[in-house]
Amino acid sequence: MSNASASGPGTESAAGKDAGFDPHCRRCARLARFLDEVRAGHPGYHAAPVPSFGPADAGLLIVGLAPGMHGANATGRPFTGDYAGILLYATLHEYGFASAPDSERADDGLELYDCRITNAVKCLPPQNRPTTAEIRECNGYLATEIAAVRPRVILALGKVAHDAVLRTRGLALARHAFGHAAEHRLDDDTLLVDSYHCSRYNTQTGRLTPEMFRRLFARIRERIS
Ligand code: SF4
Repeated sequence: MSNASASGPGTESAAGKDAGFDPHCRRCARLARFLDEVRAGHPGYHAAPVPSFGPADAGLLIVGLAPGMHGANATGRPFTGDYAGILLYATLHEYGFASAPDSERADDGLELYDCRITNAVKCLPPQNRPTTAEIRECNGYLATEIAAVRPRVILALGKVAHDAVLRTRGLALARHAFGHAAEHRLDDDTLLVDSYHCSRYNTQTGRLTPEMFRRLFARIRERIS
């Protein structure tokens, strides 16, 4: 596990500024208090809102749920340093979106190509479960980011991310059901694609296999190209 904090509070993400993002944000009181506790117990951890990673004009925007305790929350880079990033970065590399197949430290020099990764909730939630109010509170950052990046494809990892993307557009959740590999046209320029989250649970139980993920990325690559 890396405790590297190359992109700690007050710094930009590796290759693109987060539009409108406050790296010291404490608008969610419960999450801010929790991060204070985590920081005290793990002095080397990032333990702050995690900025997005990747170029600010990426054609593909990947939206996860929230930072993991010993992953993004520790390293300060989305899906970096824990199990959830293993399949994601290996697949990104295979399809030409990443310069390397592994992402364990924020200072490893990894680059994303035409791809950017963010989270529906930028702060670590207790038990990986943000409240609905916290998801809504952070939704403004996601909306600002989507408007600034203008991705052609948004890949939502899991239903929370899917719902958060729809909320940024004020679209009815009931009319856009989440489903692995489902596609939803948000407007003429933007397609939302769903995937099961690449969590340890989903990958170890076979709910999401490497082949399923590859098929999805092959389609995304076609859509973008
Ligand atoms: S989850 Fe988002 S809105 Fe809430 S404190 Fe963190 S950065 Fe701010």
